[in-house]
Amino acid sequence: MVPQALRGTTDLLSDEITRWLALEQAVRRLCVVYGYQELRTPLIEDASLFLRSIGQTTDIVQKEMFRVHDRGDQEMVLRPEGTVPMVRAYLEHNLHKTDGFVKLFYMGPMFRAERPQAGRFRQFHQYGVEAIGSASPWVDVEVITLCLHILRECGLSQSTLWLSTMGCREDQQRSAERLRVQLQPDRMHLCKDCQSRFEKNVFRVLDCKQKTCQKIAQEAVRQINQDAGKAPPTPFSLCDECAKHFDEVRSALRDSGIAFDDTQVFARGLDYYTRTVFEVRHAGLGSQDAVAAGGRYDRLVEEMGGPPMGAVGFATGIERVLLAAACEQTQGEVNPTRRGVYVAVTEAGFIREGFRLIQQLHNRGAQAIMSYDGKSLRAQLREADQAGCQFVAILGERELKGRTISLRELAARCGSRELGKSERTVPLEAFVDEVSQHVKPPCH
Ligand SMILES: [Zn+2]
Ligand SMILES: [Zn+2]
Repeated sequence: MVPQALRGTTDLLSDEITRWLALEQAVRRLCVVYGYQELRTPLIEDASLFLRSIGQTTDIVQKEMFRVHDRGDQEMVLRPEGTVPMVRAYLEHNLHKTDGFVKLFYMGPMFRAERPQAGRFRQFHQYGVEAIGSASPWVDVEVITLCLHILRECGLSQSTLWLSTMGCREDQQRSAERLRVQLQPDRMHLCKDCQSRFEKNVFRVLDCKQKTCQKIAQEAVRQINQDAGKAPPTPFSLCDECAKHFDEVRSALRDSGIAFDDTQVFARGLDYYTRTVFEVRHAGLGSQDAVAAGGRYDRLVEEMGGPPMGAVGFATGIERVLLAAACEQTQGEVNPTRRGVYVAVTEAGFIREGFRLIQQLHNRGAQAIMSYDGKSLRAQLREADQAGCQFVAILGERELKGRTISLRELAARCGSRELGKSERTVPLEAFVDEVSQHVKPPCH
């Protein structure tokens, strides 16, 4: 048996990479357009960083942290999420003193130690943004707008924005008491996880995926709202400031023509969220339908040792976006664009001349390949097609005598037919100039 990748991890081969690159480029481009700068943090962090900030009772800390031990005593973890390391870096590099309000983005792998199951990986990938240093509702709206813009750019047109608010810490404490009172009679019918959530962080019952728990929670929230005479079903009783913030976010979203659903009860599973919380869900993803999620975390910077300052961000699962995009079967992705040139030679003796051309193309930054194995012309043409090349340049005896090269353009496939094949003869001197204009790789 040959060695295998660990369960819950995947290799990305070239077909996949093309889609990943397109997504990563869209993320980078749009983040820069909105004024966000990239920050890269290490994959390993001190375990206590997450224990303190995410909350001891969360699933991440209780079951999902990927612990790493070296020979010393220090306990480290592979990062389970992006926000906490970003805030750590923000504070460690004194960005709160030098820059104040900072808009950052990140992209990369995250890790989880739970048993891998459908749609859940040990190593998964996220991109996200953190706007740190402002409590303005306009920043919430900007972050949500950017989140949706990137998803649209990645071909997702069928996603919905779910919006809610969790209020400030005082609101949360007050509302937790009220929710416990309401859930108390049904407490024994909750699942085992929810029994302990009831004591430690009762809002997490609202996140439970178990049908029974969901039903009990929805009913409890309905009752709370009925008693309070509130329309949107939130278990959070908001102070005036938090209610105003939520109204401003909703009205700015309406002004921008962004549709949202604020009629569902949900709370984000991490301790650090306050006020605005949101999720973007996609029907193509089944029960794990969240593509992106985020919200405001106005207390986290202070809890991590910084000054009190507002912050808001989101994280998006890259695997989920690609899966959702595949569900929508965006055209254009089905027929990927052809790229690069294949230099084919009719005799092994011409490899030397072909190699000289390839080197010139590479020096120009043009994407070019050839075979060094003396294959038949037919085999080389097949190889060019399989490699997705846009051009095949054929170097034969006739061409070499006339100091020319035959250039054939391969059109994108349409079903099994190949369309628009064209061939012309180009002087050898002009060949590199002409072709290198057309065959820059996508990252240029
Ligand atoms: Zn409040
Ligand atoms: Zn439950």
